[in-house]
Amino acid sequence: MTEITPQPGILEIDLYVGGQSALAGHAEVLKLSSNENPLGAPASALAALGQAAQGLHRYPSTDHASLRRIIGEIHGLDPERIICGVGSDEVLQFVTQAFSGPGDEIIHTEHGFSMYPILAHMAGATPVSVSERERVVDVDAILSAVNDRTRLVLIANPGNPTGTMVPAGELERLTETLPGHVILVLDGAYTEFAESYDGGAALAKTRPNVLMTRTFSKIYGLGGLRIGWGYGPKSMIDVMTRIRQPFNLSVLQLAAGEAAVRDRDWVARCAQLNAEQRLRLTGALRQLGVACDDSHANFVLARFADEGEALSADAALQEDGIIVRRVAGYGFPEGLRITVGDETQTSRVIAALTRWREVSA
Ligand code: PMP
Repeated sequence: MTEITPQPGILEIDLYVGGQSALAGHAEVLKLSSNENPLGAPASALAALGQAAQGLHRYPSTDHASLRRIIGEIHGLDPERIICGVGSDEVLQFVTQAFSGPGDEIIHTEHGFSMYPILAHMAGATPVSVSERERVVDVDAILSAVNDRTRLVLIANPGNPTGTMVPAGELERLTETLPGHVILVLDGAYTEFAESYDGGAALAKTRPNVLMTRTFSKIYGLGGLRIGWGYGPKSMIDVMTRIRQPFNLSVLQLAAGEAAVRDRDWVARCAQLNAEQRLRLTGALRQLGVACDDSHANFVLARFADEGEALSADAALQEDGIIVRRVAGYGFPEGLRITVGDETQTSRVIAALTRWREVSA
């Protein structure tokens, strides 16, 4: 062979596009495009980072025993069944890479998180997109797409960018009906923003083929630090651990993660603020004639009349220094995904959209 060729599937990967963070001509940009925490990072984690910096000449723990023990304590889970990664993205990479390869299929839903098809291709597997029903995961559509080649089903609950949830009974039915050779991954990146939801922990505790993934990037405000974790059957975690780099989490990630997970007041405060401002934003959008489902996450998917209207609202927001996320790539050309901010930020979004409506009416 005379040419360097990549592994099959790699050239089919559409590069992940992150939330825009700068706007020309605006110094005071309000970034609401990546579902980040408007309160920033918790002081407890920042203090832990400062302390941990004293030990940067040492390699970090290879087994994350201390962080796993604390996560286990707080969530009532067996630490032996927890695996930690560089963001939940890495945990998703472990499971897709360890359990699928060329010739295998990975199912995700049409409005699922954009990393899912990328992860499938990274593993050399084939992503299979199935339709949703009214922007909610359709369990029957998933079940009819399953075949002998299916290795994994990836579902975010709450969904991104829809913000909707799969009804609990439907999730149970899915886990009961999926054939034993298929792993169900319940991606709980936004769990803490949903009321009375355990992220899929109870299912992952009892079913032999369910993995729950969680992140420190949203409720904990540590997106920049990159920490996530997964919880599943011991045998699954053992397999995933074999392909995990021994020092994947730094001394800083481990220390800040431990402090953050202990900080229950922070979680309660962020969830409360989000619930209040999400309600305001949703109400204001509807009053302006913009459709949106009730969101269970820290963002709202605003659905405009058509793509032209979404583009014009996006341009108006940008004029006011506000960056939100276009979600045409997720199957919503008419949509804008708006991260829920604090009270002042939400007021700024509402004011900008109100002005836009007045001008465009
Ligand atoms: N899953 C979903 C549904 C997400 O929206 C995100 C972040 N945008 C992730 C996983 C990955 O998050 P992280 O790698 O920061 O933990």
